[in-house]
Amino acid sequence: MSTYHRLPIAAVVVLLLVAGCGEQASPGPTPVSSGQIIITNGTVVDGYGSEPIRDGIVVIVEDRIVFVGKASEYSDRTHAQVINARGGTILPGIIDAHVHGGSDPAIRREFLIGGVTAVCDLGFPLEAMARFDQDHLGQDLVARGFRAGPILTAPGGLPGAALHENVNYEVGTPDEARAAVVDLYNRGADVIKVYLHEEDGGVIYPMLGEEELAAIVEEAHARGLLVRAHASCASLLGMAVRAGVDTIEHVPANVTQAEYQSRSESQWQGFLQSNDPLQVFFAEIYPQYEAQLQTMVEAGIVMVPTLDSYKDLFQASNPTRQEEVGMAIVLGIVGRFHELGGIVALGTDYIIDTGMEAGMPVGEMEKLSMAGLTPMEVIEAGTRHSAYVCGHGDELGTLEAGMLADVIVVDGDPLQDLQAMSRVILVIKNGEIAVISEGMLSADE
Ligand SMILES: [Zn+2]
Repeated sequence: MSTYHRLPIAAVVVLLLVAGCGEQASPGPTPVSSGQIIITNGTVVDGYGSEPIRDGIVVIVEDRIVFVGKASEYSDRTHAQVINARGGTILPGIIDAHVHGGSDPAIRREFLIGGVTAVCDLGFPLEAMARFDQDHLGQDLVARGFRAGPILTAPGGLPGAALHENVNYEVGTPDEARAAVVDLYNRGADVIKVYLHEEDGGVIYPMLGEEELAAIVEEAHARGLLVRAHASCASLLGMAVRAGVDTIEHVPANVTQAEYQSRSESQWQGFLQSNDPLQVFFAEIYPQYEAQLQTMVEAGIVMVPTLDSYKDLFQASNPTRQEEVGMAIVLGIVGRFHELGGIVALGTDYIIDTGMEAGMPVGEMEKLSMAGLTPMEVIEAGTRHSAYVCGHGDELGTLEAGMLADVIVVDGDPLQDLQAMSRVILVIKNGEIAVISEGMLSADE
């Protein structure tokens, strides 16, 4: 028996944040001045991937963006607070589309300070649902909190069965599946999360069937909700794609114990020793895989790779051959999907107490870049595409007139160096200034 059991990709777990104590009640909506906020002296990157606007300007009135363009095209400075972007880059607020623990306003405060103006929580206990409406921590603004609610899965299924936590919403029949979607919709869910994963630690758990999954997708789409599927196993990608889910969460690369055992030792050795393990993966291990990626592209199914969640692979200082192969496959699949024209959105799978930091996801951005996305495409992934997968693409994720005013400024040019994204000097959420560096704001004119 080989020591090789499966790709060393940790099962992604969800965390539960118990409702905390000692938090202050929201002071209610902050009055918004009727004047304008003008951000000037910066380069505008609008989230569409269009040519950056040098010497650009973004104008905000109340909670909306009212103008985006060249500074020379906008002359009205009445009742204006003028913010000097100091030659930095003006961007839509970044959206982390896959986190856990987002119900806690203290965590959303950390995200906001880092330039992340919205997060989407993809799995938590039902009781925490209402906490997402809290938009302040004391007097301080916090990032928007979008939510899936608990995760739809089979009775006794993952992830709750392995975590022994209350994150499952268990459905055993198509009727139960439909009723669960309606219930979550009525409780304010922004998206629906389903769990397609049956093996953990060598144990096989019950999983949603094709009929339940189809019922979930139909009922969610009838209410305008996207269905986001945890699908980290290559063998389950086809099922998710056939069902018409809207996103694939994680990189479907994991090889289960059962699949491992169904193949010969020499097949696995050839895979591990190949100079191009991705090609062996596509050609021999999962011959249908590339066609499924192509189907995803054609159907507009978005991939949210959550590369930060594969930290064992990326942080290995002295990687084993298995870890090298695992990393080549994870990055290679994202890169191939992207080459085929697939849409990638940014999510970190942030979980508290795992060493991950709430804030600007520069690490995820750099890994997306390693997978082949250009810096501009990385920014689109974290703005427009993330807004879409959170179910809010019609009002967030781009800088244009009419959109909600979530705007950040970073010091430097992230199109040259993504590290500039970590130097946030201005954060505006919903038309209110949350973070501003000293000296950027001039008095009302
Ligand atoms: Zn997750």
